[in-house]
Amino acid sequence: MAFFLAAIFALLASSAVGQPVVRTADPAKRGLKESDFPRTIKVADNVYTYEDFHAGPEKFTTTNMFVVTDEGVLVADGQGSPEETKRLVEAIATVTPKPIKYVVICSDHGDHTGGNLAFPQGVKYFIHPLSKAALDQQAERAQAPNASGRGSARRWTLPIEAELVFAQKPLMLGTEPIQILFLGRAHTGGDLSVYLPRQKILFMSETFLNRVFPAMRSAYPSDWLKALDRAEAINADLYIPGHGFTESGPVSKEELRAYHKALAAVIAEATRLHKAGVPVEEAVKQAKWGEYGSWTLASSQGPIAIRRVYDELDGKLK
Ligand SMILES: [Zn+2]
Repeated sequence: MAFFLAAIFALLASSAVGQPVVRTADPAKRGLKESDFPRTIKVADNVYTYEDFHAGPEKFTTTNMFVVTDEGVLVADGQGSPEETKRLVEAIATVTPKPIKYVVICSDHGDHTGGNLAFPQGVKYFIHPLSKAALDQQAERAQAPNASGRGSARRWTLPIEAELVFAQKPLMLGTEPIQILFLGRAHTGGDLSVYLPRQKILFMSETFLNRVFPAMRSAYPSDWLKALDRAEAINADLYIPGHGFTESGPVSKEELRAYHKALAAVIAEATRLHKAGVPVEEAVKQAKWGEYGSWTLASSQGPIAIRRVYDELDGKLK
């Protein structure tokens, strides 16, 4: 078993024998082809990640986790469209004949929930109350008389049986202990993580963006830093991001640290400009991101981060 895991990790850790992985979210820089995706990666005996491309011109992955047990499968996050999530469901079926029982909505954003229609009818959803509120609001807007009606005939809505997770929810699926955790508001406000205590694996969804510039459209910047403190305090053996590649255990710990530093640096730069009295539109132009300027999405997410940190400093985030 130990040897087996070591072999998987060795495979993951090197793109060629002896070659360390390139620390990036960019598949091309990583030495991967578009045709390598979507892909399923075995990270422990019964635990897998699934990576498919995020929509948009800049290529990077949206990453999910699934856990296979004798009693069925738990999936943490889906993909962005029914077609993409259908491929995830099919990938799970190639690994196990067991049915999908549970889906944890770790991020309520469309790139992780837009495909939920493709999950089997009757799966049980877990969600944080703030994310449920966000999805309910979305559904209301879609039903409004002046809504565009795009895809409304087959629109997914959160089943009312969905179970709310406020702080933590311990589960047993077959003989597998699973903990759903709220580590604090981070990227969406209702961010959930899934911890597997037996394997010491923490799936962090969008609380951890691996080499992707801190994306703050709906974030709570200072709370996000505290959520990362809590994630690191768990001292997991493997941290799995919601965007960016699945890493080997040791590399994932380093990359979580690197992400934490990136988030702190982005908040510090926005705070510096705010303290200097630079107006927000000027700050967007003046911000210096240093090494983080080359991270995936830096050019689009940099200005959004400045505005969000300004909002927090101005007391506009509750
Ligand atoms: Zn996302």
